[in-house]
Amino acid sequence: MSSINELSSILGKKKVFFFDLDGTIYLGNKLFKGVRELIEILHEKELPFFFLSNNSSKSTSDYIKKLNDLNLNVTINNLILSQHPTIEYLRSKNYKRVYLLGTESLKLEFQQEGFTLTDINPEIVVLAFDQDLTYDKLVKTSYMLQGDLPYVATHLDNRCPTEKGYIPDAGGIAALLFKATERMPKVFGKPNKEMILFKLRELDIEPRDAILFGDRLYTDIKMGHEAGIITCCVLSGETNIEMIEKNQSYQPDFIINGIWDILEILKK
Ligand SMILES: [Mg+2]
Repeated sequence: MSSINELSSILGKKKVFFFDLDGTIYLGNKLFKGVRELIEILHEKELPFFFLSNNSSKSTSDYIKKLNDLNLNVTINNLILSQHPTIEYLRSKNYKRVYLLGTESLKLEFQQEGFTLTDINPEIVVLAFDQDLTYDKLVKTSYMLQGDLPYVATHLDNRCPTEKGYIPDAGGIAALLFKATERMPKVFGKPNKEMILFKLRELDIEPRDAILFGDRLYTDIKMGHEAGIITCCVLSGETNIEMIEKNQSYQPDFIINGIWDILEILKK
C-alpha cells in the first residue's frame, strides 16, 4: 500500500476517473463533502469521469434525476450501471421476452429498451435488486428456474448501505432462490471487469491510465485489480482499516478517508 504522497504524484497523470456511488460519493441521500467541487475540477480539467453502481433498483433516468437533485452536474454519459452490461448481453443473445425480478423503475427502463416483460414463457430470468420483492415472485421464479431456462443477474452484492444501516441486496435474493433451486445466475455488474473495460475500449484509454475509487473490497477493488487499474479504497463506506488488513485477496493500492482527500491534490 502506498502513501498519500505517492497518490499525489500519480493522480495528475491519470486520464480517466471511475467512482463508485454508494459509500463513495454519497450514503443514501447524503452527499459527501467535496463531491461538487471534485466534479467541477474534473469538468474544468476536461478529465472524463464515470460513476459506477451495481444498485439496479433504480433506472438510468432515475439515477440522473437523483444525481441532479443533489446538484451534481452529470449526464447519462457519466454513468455505468449494472443493468447496462446486462441489457447489452440480452441484446447480443437476441433475448426479447424477459422475466425481470426488479422494481417498477427498472421495469420501465427494460421496456423502453424494447424488451417484453412477462411471466408466461420468458426466454430468460433476470434478477436485479428487487425492492418490490414478494413471496409470490419468489415462488414464480423458483418454478421457472427448475428447468434450464437461462438465468442472469445485474449484480450479486450481499448488502446495500443506507443511512440507517445495511439492507439485503440482490445477492441475498439470489441466495434465497439458490436454497430452493440450487441455481446461481451469471453476473454482469462489479466485480466483473467488463463493467469498466468496455468503457476504456470506447475511450481508447489503457487501464494503466485509469484510477478507480470505491468503498468495497470484494466488488470495487477486486474489479479494479482484475481490469489492471490502480485502486483507491475510501473509508467512508463499508470497509474499515481492519477489514483491509484481514483481506489478503484484494488489497487496494491506496487508502484515503474519503473522496474529499483528493481535492487538494487535484487542485494543483
Ligand atoms: Mg459502494
